[in-house]
Amino acid sequence: MKIKLATFIKSSANVSECPPDQYPEYAFIGRSNVGKSSLINRLTNQKKLAKTSQTPGKTQLINHYLIHDSWYLVDLPGYGWAKLGKVQKQKLAEMIQEYMLKRTNLTGVFVLVDSRHKAQDIDLDFMQFLGENQVPFVMVFTKIDKLKPGQLKKNIEAYRQELLEEWEEMPTHFITSSVNGEGCEEILRFIAQVNQESIQ
Ligand code: GDP
Repeated sequence: MKIKLATFIKSSANVSECPPDQYPEYAFIGRSNVGKSSLINRLTNQKKLAKTSQTPGKTQLINHYLIHDSWYLVDLPGYGWAKLGKVQKQKLAEMIQEYMLKRTNLTGVFVLVDSRHKAQDIDLDFMQFLGENQVPFVMVFTKIDKLKPGQLKKNIEAYRQELLEEWEEMPTHFITSSVNGEGCEEILRFIAQVNQESIQ
């Protein structure tokens, strides 16, 4: 699948403001700076659909994009903004949790992690939360162009070991680069397949 039509629908401050839930929905989330906006732009073939490197205050909304008039791609706020105050952080965490638990058409969550870094507690905790609440998710390793293949392999293996402490197996994962587009086709194929299964 190649995305030819992506339309911004709206930005919402909470679940009740989100657009009608008639389409399957895939949400992208991760720590700020993980490369989420770049990946969304690459996946949709649009340079500026998601804004890269926004300031914290502007990114705390749920952004819906309608793809091919048949599914939503959702850009969620980056978690772990060091610059946010305690109250704001708490508010953001609550909004994300509410979205994950209450958005009825949520079909899959893409949890982005930077392939250069060791597993971070905030990401592990978030995946734990998703698992405990039976929210289906996959992982996306970003920025792989910044690593040599051997190092990438090592980092993913280290991540696998970390996850196996809590999980029986490594979740489905994609290795991606928004610079050269690696892994994007696989992500879109995965979405197309899940969409197909959901209408059968
Ligand atoms: P966000 O805060 O998660 O939306 O992250 P951005 O998409 O704004 O990316 C943060 C920074 O990482 C920017 O300077 C991007 O240009 C850079 N970046 C994002 N993805 C990649 C990638 O795949 N490869 C490389 N080399 N840089 C990337």
